[in-house]
Amino acid sequence: MLNIVLFGPPGAGKGTQSAKLIEDYGLVHLSTGDLLRAERKAQTPLGIKANQYIEKGNLVPDEVVIGMIENKIKEYPNPKGFIFDGFPRTVPQAEALDVLLAHHQTAISTMIALEVEYNELVERLLKRGADSGRADDQDENIIKNRINVYNNETLPVADFYKKQNKLASIYGIGEIDEIYNQISIALSKVKVF
Ligand code: AMP
Repeated sequence: MLNIVLFGPPGAGKGTQSAKLIEDYGLVHLSTGDLLRAERKAQTPLGIKANQYIEKGNLVPDEVVIGMIENKIKEYPNPKGFIFDGFPRTVPQAEALDVLLAHHQTAISTMIALEVEYNELVERLLKRGADSGRADDQDENIIKNRINVYNNETLPVADFYKKQNKLASIYGIGEIDEIYNQISIALSKVKVF
C-alpha cells in the first residue's frame, strides 16, 4: 500500500494536490476537515461538538478525529492506499495512526510536507473564504489562530516522521502542476509496504 500523509499549514494546497494524487494513484482520500464538515452539516452530536472548535480555528480533540479515522479505514477492506489530508495534526494523532495502520499490517509510506510562507497563506485563505463562503476562511483573526495552532501543535508532527526517515519537503508556491511534479518525484522514491 502507498499511504501518504499530506502535510502543511492551512492554505498550503493540500486539497488541490490531493485531488490530483487520488486520480493518478487510485488512493482513498481521508480528510478530517471534510469529514468534520460533513458531520456538522448533518448536525450529528459529533458535528455539533466539533463546530465549537472549528469556528474558533482550534483543534478538535484527538480522540474525536482518531475515532473518525479508525472507522473510515475499516470501510475500505482492500485499498491501494490512503492519502491522509489534514491528519495527523498532533503527535498523539500520529502515534495513534501508526498503531491503527499496524493493525491493518501496513504503515505510512511518506509524509509530503508543503511549505508556504505566512503572508501567502493568509492571502490564499481569505480568497478561498470569499469564493467558498467557508466561515473559518473569512475572518483574519481565525485564520491567524489556525496558522498559530499549526505552528505550535502541528509542526512537531513533521519531526515525528523525520525521525522515521519519511519526511519529504516540497516548496508549495508556484505552478500547481510543477508542485505536483515534485510530489510525484518524491513518491517515486518511497518504500511501499
Ligand atoms: P481543515 O479543513 O483541514 O483546514 O480543517 C478545518 C478545521 O477542522 C480545523 O481548523 C480544525 O478545527 C478541525 N480539524 C480538521 N482536522 C483535524 C485534526 N486532524 N485534528 C483536530 N482538528 C481538526
